[in-house]
Amino acid sequence: MPFALTFHGAAGTVTGSCFRLDTPGGAILVDCGMFQGTKTIKELNYRPFPFDPTAMQAVLLTHAHIDHSGLLPKLTRSGFRGRIHATAGTADLLEFMLPDSGYIQETEVERLNHRNRQRGRAAVQPIYTQDDAIRSLRRLRRVDYDHWVAILPGLRARFWRAGHILGSASIEVEVAGESGEKPATILFSGDLGPGGKSFHADAEGPERPDWLVLETTYGDRDRADLDETARQSLLRDEVKAALAAGGTLVIPVFAVERTQELLYDLDRLFDTGQLPLVDVFLDSPLADAVTGVFRRHLGDLETEGDPFARTNFHHARSVSESQRLNTINGGAIIMAASGMCDAGRVRHHLKNRLWRPQDSVLLVGYQAPGTLGSLLQQGAPRVRIHGEEIQVRARIRSIDVYSGHADRSALLAWVAARQGVGRGLFLVHGEEEARASIRQALRERGWADDAVVLPALDDTADLTAARPRIRSAAPARLAPPALAGSDWHNRYAQALLSLRRALDTAPDDVARERILANVQAALGAGPSRGTPGGTRP
Ligand SMILES: [Zn+2]
Repeated sequence: MPFALTFHGAAGTVTGSCFRLDTPGGAILVDCGMFQGTKTIKELNYRPFPFDPTAMQAVLLTHAHIDHSGLLPKLTRSGFRGRIHATAGTADLLEFMLPDSGYIQETEVERLNHRNRQRGRAAVQPIYTQDDAIRSLRRLRRVDYDHWVAILPGLRARFWRAGHILGSASIEVEVAGESGEKPATILFSGDLGPGGKSFHADAEGPERPDWLVLETTYGDRDRADLDETARQSLLRDEVKAALAAGGTLVIPVFAVERTQELLYDLDRLFDTGQLPLVDVFLDSPLADAVTGVFRRHLGDLETEGDPFARTNFHHARSVSESQRLNTINGGAIIMAASGMCDAGRVRHHLKNRLWRPQDSVLLVGYQAPGTLGSLLQQGAPRVRIHGEEIQVRARIRSIDVYSGHADRSALLAWVAARQGVGRGLFLVHGEEEARASIRQALRERGWADDAVVLPALDDTADLTAARPRIRSAAPARLAPPALAGSDWHNRYAQALLSLRRALDTAPDDVARERILANVQAALGAGPSRGTPGGTRP
């Protein structure tokens, strides 16, 4: 098809953003993100691309988050030789984020291969290495916001502020018409910010594109509107309560944006005397490097002065500096990654502090089901960290006032500001309920049913048509049910936990033997050897 759009990710799921645009002048990708979530979804990252990487002539990148950029090193390793166009903010963030991602791939596969050797299975290769990531950075070309950039013959692009994270953009693509026809425009929203952020201007965009590809992450949710002062007051109250308890406050953080927002808010609270000048330790090399990128881009941020330079802000860079934080007995804040406590240095701090009633943990973002962060949020009395069982006696608190995404109302307002579309609107980057909710809202606002489409993974839309016309991929890489919610790995873990709980709460060993015999019977395996019900030789 000479002019078509194929949805290779973020269709039926939130992650793995990747759209292939075929035009008469050549093929390009918009984003090349990693799939995240269940093992079934993540397995897609290991498979070959569903297109020929050497035939792609350029990539346009909306922003640096790994679910939008994380497969770029794999793309270049697979033979892609074009340019990757991104804003300066995005390019600077990628310099740290992609090598960090490569390092994570290498160490995860190392751990997996150790288990594979024990089980007699073949070793697997990492999706890509740190070296692949560094090589892919050479293909980056920095673009300015608001200016047209020539990408291919007959194809140009313009980046608009999206207000989501540093460097984030919505991308408008214009494709020249054949033989004197009017050019066609396609607007990719990328991830849109909530508006009213401390660092970024609100999302913008051109009016009336022919085609619109819209993210719908929070399409079914509205959040309470909190201005900067109200948000800082909430943080102040939490920090004060933690200090009053006489201990140390641990804040698990996401390295990009959340860390910097917290530092900014703390800087304000210190400056205005709302908090005493306690020490704040940032214990994450990636968060530290990303904060450095923010400092280089202070001119682009909507702030005055440098909120990241304070004498009571300290950076723990080496492992020994990190370990030294264990000796702090109170009156300090430790910020460490990751934000959901499933990896990184924060796990050491939690292991060291969760059992102390005077210490506090403040969760400041979304905690995915099954992560250590969500277990703490649900009030688990004990948790396992690095194979050890730790009693939870620290104060566990949550505030949900930092968000990088537009909620339902903000998404609809952004669409309304585009003044409609010439031909059609594709809803992507959202769970099914979120996409359905936005479609319903658009219907109520007078949008024609056939103008709004929810593409499935690898679907192709014919952009020469007057209304969206979709051709489904055959065979599909993953059927829609496999993309949603939990997979059998999650349910297996759940089943093991239920069995463990049933055994723990059984009144005596006879009852435990009965439970196990029932499980064996259900598996059709009969009673196991050596149990009272079994026959002894
Ligand atoms: Zn994002």
